[in-house]
Order: sequence, then structure tokens, then C-alpha cells
Amino acid sequence: MELTPPPPPPVLQPPAARASCWVCKGSIDQPDNFCRHCGKGQGRNVPWQYKHWGVVVLFFCVGPFALYPVWRSPVISRTAKWIYTALTIAGTIYLIHLFTEIARSVNSMLAGYDSFSGAGN
Ligand SMILES: [Zn+2]
Repeated sequence: MELTPPPPPPVLQPPAARASCWVCKGSIDQPDNFCRHCGKGQGRNVPWQYKHWGVVVLFFCVGPFALYPVWRSPVISRTAKWIYTALTIAGTIYLIHLFTEIARSVNSMLAGYDSFSGAGN
């Protein structure tokens, strides 16, 4: 009878920390850069419109619609989301006020032109 040495025990990889995708909530490993289910970037790889500089650029392009990616963003903290919301509302009110003032001054200039040209008739 011949004894064979027992097979070596299988090498167990330490399980990677689990995380969930911020878009599809699928299960991914902590170090994954992209979701293996939907392909969205994770952590530092999230699309630009969800980062701090992205929402600032978006505000100047689309105004209050920039709040949509702000509140969906996985990298902006809840406190920062409220700060962005308050700044966006204040900025929007200011811009509406500014355009109202411009419209009023343009109207008064046109009214002055009308009365001036009407005086000659
Ligand atoms: Zn996903």
C-alpha cells in the first residue's frame, strides 16, 4: 500500500470588500473602477457632470437644471448638495431680477423713442 501525500489546500483569495453600484445598485467589488453590470464609473471615475467642477460648469450652462446631477451624484456630500441647492436658487433669483431690470430699462428707452418720434407728427 502506497501513501500519496494529501493535495495542497486550495489557496483562498481574501474576499474583496463588497460595494454596490451607485446607478444600478448591482453588487461590485470595492476596488472596481467601473460597474460590471451597467458600466458606469465608480468613485473617482464618475462622469464629469457629477463632480464638483462639473456642476459649477453646468449651472452656468443650464441654470437650475444643474440640480438634477447634483442630487444624483455619488461623490458630493449631502451637506454640499444643500449648499449647491441654496446657491443655485439664489443665483437663479438674482439672474431673473437682472433680466427683469434689463427688460425694464430697454422698455423705458423704447417708450422714450416712441414719444420722441411721435412728437414730430
Ligand atoms: Zn451599475
